[in-house]
Amino acid sequence: MFNLILFGPPGSGKGTQSQNILDTYKLHHISTGDLLREEVKKESTLGLEAKKYMDQGLLVPDEVVIGMISGKIDENPEARGFIFDGFPRTTEQASALDKLLEFKGTEIDLMLSLEVPEAELVKRLLHRGVTSGRSDDNEEVITKRIKEYHTKTAVVADHYNTQSKLVNLKGDGDIETTFRLIKKEIDKYLQPA
Ligand code: AMP
Repeated sequence: MFNLILFGPPGSGKGTQSQNILDTYKLHHISTGDLLREEVKKESTLGLEAKKYMDQGLLVPDEVVIGMISGKIDENPEARGFIFDGFPRTTEQASALDKLLEFKGTEIDLMLSLEVPEAELVKRLLHRGVTSGRSDDNEEVITKRIKEYHTKTAVVADHYNTQSKLVNLKGDGDIETTFRLIKKEIDKYLQPA
């Protein structure tokens, strides 16, 4: 099993590159943002609770997100591995993920961190707000999301750096260029399926 964390600030291209990775390597994609948006759409209890935070550009409480992840791993016992996209976003989530995977007899193999300058992130997110209609892609909420990234999420890279699993990649090129960089790293562990 090969487990990858695709890491980086909002707008760094995690969702786009996850699609390229899963097409090439047939890993199972777990995006907590997508899962939460599904719950919001269903108007489930979890979704209604999560929406309060998402609309403000704040992180949803750890226990809500961690509870959701465990089930998704169990639902896919035959997976070749997982891409975690937008998770873990706090050191508490990282510790919980490590424990969860250890319990299942596996672990995180690699964290790829996409580095993109802030001005480019804002430009991309504003563009996405227009094209995808995501309610959290407006200027005020974008600023808060990037702030949450710096105060709570950026430290998660240190967590995996101390485990020698972190690789930083330039993420400000075009989609194909960034994917070539990603592929070069994953190929060290896993062949395309
Ligand atoms: P994303 O699609 O990954 O940008 O996530 C959109 C929003 O969902 C974030 O701004 C958070 O409010 C929430 N969210 C997604 N993933 C997490 C997570 N791992 N922990 C806490 N909140 C999350």
